[in-house]
Amino acid sequence: MVKTCCIKTCKSESYSGCGVSFHRFPSKEEMKQKWLDVIPEPIKITKNSVVCSLHFNPADFLMAKSRRV
Ligand SMILES: [Zn+2]
Repeated sequence: MVKTCCIKTCKSESYSGCGVSFHRFPSKEEMKQKWLDVIPEPIKITKNSVVCSLHFNPADFLMAKSRRV
């Protein structure tokens, strides 16, 4: 299944070699809010919503990756 970025103005799609990675919203409210801060429009988040890497800077990714369960 092809993933598409949940940001309407973004046309990113996942396909091999696209160079863009897709990320689910964190379950932690605090992190989720940080993500929403970077997103320039109101979006509806579902458990399948993904945002592509174009909207984040590397520091944000590090935070997301270091998240422990
Ligand atoms: Zn995007």
